[in-house]
Amino acid sequence: MNPSPQTVTGLIDAFRRSKTMFTAIELGVFEATPTTAEAFAKANKTNLRATTLLLDACVSLGLLAKEDGTYSNTPESEVFLKRSSPRTLAGYALYSNRVLWRLWEHLPDAVREGSHRWPQAFHTEGPIFDHFFRTEESKRTFLTGLHGFGMLSSSQAIAAHDLRAVKHFVDLGGGTGHLALAFVDQYPDARATVFDLPQVIPLTREITGGRVQCVAGDFFSDPLPPADCYAVARILHDWSPAKIERLLNKIHAALPANGCLLICEMLINDTRTGPTLAMMQSLNMLTCTEGQERTAAEYEALCKAAGFRRVSAKVTGAPVDAVLAIK
Ligand code: SAM
Repeated sequence: MNPSPQTVTGLIDAFRRSKTMFTAIELGVFEATPTTAEAFAKANKTNLRATTLLLDACVSLGLLAKEDGTYSNTPESEVFLKRSSPRTLAGYALYSNRVLWRLWEHLPDAVREGSHRWPQAFHTEGPIFDHFFRTEESKRTFLTGLHGFGMLSSSQAIAAHDLRAVKHFVDLGGGTGHLALAFVDQYPDARATVFDLPQVIPLTREITGGRVQCVAGDFFSDPLPPADCYAVARILHDWSPAKIERLLNKIHAALPANGCLLICEMLINDTRTGPTLAMMQSLNMLTCTEGQERTAAEYEALCKAAGFRRVSAKVTGAPVDAVLAIK
């Protein structure tokens, strides 16, 4: 068999594609359209030859269309890259460019040592979320990035299980509140609360606009607001097995009989080899947290060990899947 080099050449090239898109976002290309290379270079004080190379490369990636020397957004960049779009992923792209890029540069050391790379890449020590929140701007980039990415999955994650019996849904570490909003959209007679660290809650209030309650606190050390359904979305993958055990025990103890826990994470398959998005996310967790992604069976075992009696996992087809555990 004569193997094709395409898998390897494609992966050698992959970072160039990401970096081209990140650079166009950083430079405000998708807000400046329709524009010519000359007009863009003049307005943004960039080099004309290099600007033309960048804009033409964006055309080749499907991020811009070009007609008679004028560049305009494609439907994809209009919806997902323009910063003012309600479904923008620009925040997640900027967070990837400014933070993850630098952490991933040290992936070989992360693999050697089995730990995140904040001290090596950013010279910071301390609890994980202090790194994400080290400046107002980095906190906002991180949280709005998660918001955009979360919006791709939250309504499917809520729809994955029957939550009709739930009266009060409390999203622990709920960030900007996209999951809680998806819950009240689908169950308008129930109420929802976002519980997150005090540094996060002002942005949660801004985004949720009074549609859900917002409570500041630490889910490891403070009492949890009473609820018949808790959610942990992209939370368990941040932490070590010991901290997950602690949190799940605490959630189980706080729930009434028949109460439930909704876990939203990317599920990896039973052979632990895919899907690729989840495998990449698992390595990403290695570079920036104490955690990793898990299989449905692993979440079931963690929930059963905390006392939950029934656990069912649903693959949503969106970037985040949904596991429901019943007390
Ligand atoms: N659930 C949100 C989502 O899916 O978009 C946010 C996920 S983000 C990876 C982790 C969230 O957990 C952040 O909003 C962070 O502030 C919050 N968090 C981290 N440690 C926490 C703690 N000890 N108590 C409460 N929230 C915490």
